[in-house]
Amino acid sequence: MCGIVGYVGAQQAAPLLVEGLTRLEHRGYDSAGIAVVGSRLQVTKKAGRVRDLAAALPKRLAGKVGIGHTRWATHGPATDANAHPHTDTAGQVAVVHNGIVDNAAALRARLAADGVELVSDTDTEVFAHLVARSGADTLEGKVVEALAQVEGTYGLAVVHAGFPDRIVVARHGSPLIVGVGDREMFVASDLAALVRHTTTVAHLDDGELATVTATGFTTFRHDLSRTATQASEVDIDPSVYGQGEHGDVSGAPRMYTEILEQPASVERTLRGRLDERFGTTHLGGLNLDPRELRAFRRVKILGCGSAYYVGEMGASLIEELARVPADAEPASEFRYRNPIIEPDTLYVAVSQSGETVDTLLAVEEIKRKGGRVVGLVNVVGSAIARATDGGIYLHAGPEIAVASTKALTTMFVGFALLAIQLGRVRDLSVADGKRLVTGLQRLPGQIGEILKTEDDVAAIAQDLAQAESLFFVGRVRGYPVAREGAQKLKEITYRHAEAYPTSELKHGPLALISPQVPTVAIVPDDELTDRNVAALHEIAARGGPLVVVTHPEVDLGTLDVRRIEVPRNETELDPILLTVPLQLLAYHASLALGLDVDKPRNLAKSVTVE
Ligand code: GLU
Repeated sequence: MCGIVGYVGAQQAAPLLVEGLTRLEHRGYDSAGIAVVGSRLQVTKKAGRVRDLAAALPKRLAGKVGIGHTRWATHGPATDANAHPHTDTAGQVAVVHNGIVDNAAALRARLAADGVELVSDTDTEVFAHLVARSGADTLEGKVVEALAQVEGTYGLAVVHAGFPDRIVVARHGSPLIVGVGDREMFVASDLAALVRHTTTVAHLDDGELATVTATGFTTFRHDLSRTATQASEVDIDPSVYGQGEHGDVSGAPRMYTEILEQPASVERTLRGRLDERFGTTHLGGLNLDPRELRAFRRVKILGCGSAYYVGEMGASLIEELARVPADAEPASEFRYRNPIIEPDTLYVAVSQSGETVDTLLAVEEIKRKGGRVVGLVNVVGSAIARATDGGIYLHAGPEIAVASTKALTTMFVGFALLAIQLGRVRDLSVADGKRLVTGLQRLPGQIGEILKTEDDVAAIAQDLAQAESLFFVGRVRGYPVAREGAQKLKEITYRHAEAYPTSELKHGPLALISPQVPTVAIVPDDELTDRNVAALHEIAARGGPLVVVTHPEVDLGTLDVRRIEVPRNETELDPILLTVPLQLLAYHASLALGLDVDKPRNLAKSVTVE
């Protein structure tokens, strides 16, 4: 969460900073600001969007060094004063920060007792005052002294009017990268901000700082000793990042273009990984040989939000195909309950950005206790990708919309690849392996078919959007589908949507069913169809409107339902196809309500604060 940018070079910094912030706005959008160092330090910051900041910039804003920030508030509401950059009282130091200062209250009290007037409610402001009050004679020394007093997490960037040639950055728990240009340098929390300018980047490690000037950068530790971090070329096509704030080139919201990209994304996830002859998969990046794969007696999947729901789908795939006990748990809860780490468990950390702090901290806890953990990650070189023992890159392409779609679909495919491989070193037969490999190959085309039903789904979404409260229900493989459907709708329509196992309805929630409370039911053609249809009758008998996501083969008799059909694949792979129309449903409901699909309130992409 929160976007950080920085520039130092021969060009005017302000326009470049604003452009970078536009590209990072998905990471936080309650306020934005920039600080530019020219003949003096000038700060402009505004509650609202980057476009509000751009409109508020003074005409004269000269300076070739600067930093910028889009905020996702943790401490204090979204106001002009709470927006970053934060400055010291004399206006010499400016700081942008991603993360949380845990001892902010104590530091604020201490500064106030010393007569410092704090002008914001944020935890971040203390940094600026601490840097200004340091007696060190270099900016690096001042930043290190300030950080020695701080407990918490940070990715931060500092400029100082007294050291006008540089930006000092530091990383502890929140991502920071340095981009190398031609006699100009960039700083960012996310590749998206700088790929248009350079693809030569250095990822800072936790505990590392860097000095960035127009001609290069040096990295060091908190004791000011040098580290050897180098920049390298990232293999990325800058055009895939689209046009930032206004969606892709066609002007459509990013979520929509990302939904439509799914057939291509899935093809990329599968490329080179299917072995048709032996009905298995190739996953070189896992760094696990067949003997090691066979030795695992359990699989534990950790993710947050939708990645956790896909993790549940993954757990069922693994249990079904490999017959190894598997379950998913929110990474945010896992590490706080002193988890038992077993040597014969394979831990799988799932995160689109690879920076999700709760998942990253869970990975570190597992490693600290000697566990084996692999990643299912989209962003190459991200913190989780680097912290794990191996993994599967999703190759979904950059995902910018806060509501995740193509990353989730490819996560499911990643789990299927893993489950087939785990199965084939155990009891999954060649025939079953081949059946599933063929099933995976059919997925891109079938997702394409589902996308063609968009108009019908949109019509249903128009009506559902009017309901204040909805249920999503499914059983066994269909239950995580229902959970993800409810999550997507909540995120971008702000409607109350609750997911339940269909079988649990009569144990409580049926009391809420009425003509005002629609239910979206997942009813695949599988061994549970009859039980699911019986539950639909129970809902209908109580006047509950029904939308049923199902297969053409399912006969719903005389039931009065609105039907969304998806093609059948293999039963084990069906969940992901049943999920795709729910993305379209949430998307069109959000549009029908006139909401900002890509920037849902209170949320942001990549949750990098605890
Ligand atoms: N904790 C800081 C604040 O509330 C930074 C939040 C962020 O990461 O955007 O301002």
